[in-house]
Amino acid sequence: MEQPFDCLVIGAGYAGSVAARELAERGSRRVLVLERRDHIGGNAYDYPDGHGILIHKYGPHIFHTASKRVFDYLSRFTQWRRYQHRVIASLPRDNPEVVPAHKRTQGRLCFPVPFNLDSLEAAFGKADGGRLGEKLLDAYPAQSQVTILELRRNPDPEVAAIAEYVYEHVFVHYTRKQWDQTPEEIDPATTARVPVRLTRDDRYFQDPWQGMPLEGYTSLFRRMLDHPNITVALGVDARDRASFSEGQIRLDGLPFSGPVIFTGQADELFAFQEGRLPYRTLDFRLETHDRQFYQTHGTVNYTVDQDFTRITEFKHLTGQRLRDPVTAIMKEYSRPYTGAAGEIPYYAIINPENNARYDRYRARAARFPNLHLLGRLAEYKYYNMDAIVLRALELCDGLLGDKEGNP
Ligand SMILES: Cc1cc2nc3c(=O)[nH]c(=O)nc-3n(C[C@H](O)[C@H](O)[C@H](O)COP(=O)(O)OP(=O)(O)OC[C@H]3O[C@@H](n4cnc5c(N)ncnc54)[C@H](O)[C@@H]3O)c2cc1C
Repeated sequence: MEQPFDCLVIGAGYAGSVAARELAERGSRRVLVLERRDHIGGNAYDYPDGHGILIHKYGPHIFHTASKRVFDYLSRFTQWRRYQHRVIASLPRDNPEVVPAHKRTQGRLCFPVPFNLDSLEAAFGKADGGRLGEKLLDAYPAQSQVTILELRRNPDPEVAAIAEYVYEHVFVHYTRKQWDQTPEEIDPATTARVPVRLTRDDRYFQDPWQGMPLEGYTSLFRRMLDHPNITVALGVDARDRASFSEGQIRLDGLPFSGPVIFTGQADELFAFQEGRLPYRTLDFRLETHDRQFYQTHGTVNYTVDQDFTRITEFKHLTGQRLRDPVTAIMKEYSRPYTGAAGEIPYYAIINPENNARYDRYRARAARFPNLHLLGRLAEYKYYNMDAIVLRALELCDGLLGDKEGNP
């Protein structure tokens, strides 16, 4: 019996969906996509809640890219709503770790992140913040931003003190919540790169193309996968239909010699034989509030206090205006991934030990000549959406010949 498909794609997130479309359309291949969730879109999946507000089930996703190829490609499957993400930090006016309770004032301090000249004025007061801003502009006239490493090296103690403020109030507690790392454990190179913008530009991203898919991400994926050469099977764990052993891949018991693109966890594919690859997971708490808006910005980062890292309000992202005063917010709590049922590995924990373990899985994968590891899980790295789209396009360039699909 012959296989009814030329290519097998495991996972229907960005990596798998872009690859499936390319192989089906540009390569005229018959593609089977297996997805173990009951929906397409991977972690970018969104759905309307009971009030019609589009919720990003696996955390807020904002599209931005500097790649024209990626923007043009995705624009085939969606129109865009113009949206520039803006984030503020919210923190107690007096840092509870520094100021004793009886001396604390009321209220919270909010300022744009990444930290910029407006943040400086909010944190240090209009007059002092303005004066410090002038000092920064004089000290770094040719730069649009400066790292806290550069600030720390500045001989002017007032300028160096800005670095300490940003480290303490924006960076270190937030990083501890997100990664559960002490200041000593945080890679000094990461700390050194924390930026202070020397402008009043408060956009979170500065890429030339930014926006939200007009009808949401799931619609985008539906159109991408809607091709006569693509068959999508939802609710199917690939391990139930495909086997990987002794360099040979089988689908439904028959040898499969066409390209197999795997976008799931590399350690799971090989039954954790090299041990588990560590991840951070997230718990999302979704809340509905009976008011038009809960907060002023799409995302508010809680950089010093609270157990959650940030709150995102979806109506800011989607631009939806409802007649009723109702809004939906999401709080994110970060913790270690244990592999328990239902947990999702979100962020690979990149360090030399984990990378070495991953390399051993990659070596196992290399024994299968038609197996391609693609995506944030299979490659054990963080990809933004645009980066994984580009990587998928480039993988298919290689599989199909040049950009036009000529061998
Ligand atoms: C909280 C959060 C916020 C983010 N926000 C942004 C943002 O604002 N902007 C941005 O550009 N990027 C953002 N990202 C990154 C974005 O989510 C990734 O770029 C994208 O999800 C990568 O796509 P992928 O296909 O590699 O992985 P995924 O989306 O995880 O897709 C992999 C798919 O494979 C399926 N699968 C796994 N194993 C199997 C199996 N054995 N059988 C069948 N199916 C399987 C999974 O169910 C999943 O659907 C964010 C990530 C997180 C965690």
